[in-house]
Amino acid sequence: MTKYLLEHNRPDCIGCAACVAVNAKNWVMNEDNKTDIIDGKHRPDGWQELEIGQEDFEANKAAAEACPVNVIHLKNKDNGEKIL
Ligand code: SF4
Repeated sequence: MTKYLLEHNRPDCIGCAACVAVNAKNWVMNEDNKTDIIDGKHRPDGWQELEIGQEDFEANKAAAEACPVNVIHLKNKDNGEKIL
């Protein structure tokens, strides 16, 4: 089963909450008015990341497509291909 890396460029998030509206399973609003990937790892560069499976791919692709500033990204972990 393909694994994906969900990434959030949190420093550039404008807190519009579109990702939460599309996918509340994986996204939540934080007190600092930016969203977090639920259970996502916070990286030293300020981004977040979480490995997800095929079952969560479409909902996070929809969240990425809904993001007005394109700060949600998806990579195929098996071959490193950048999807969004
Ligand atoms: S849709 Fe994009 S800009 Fe809006 S809260 Fe989510 S990650 Fe941030």
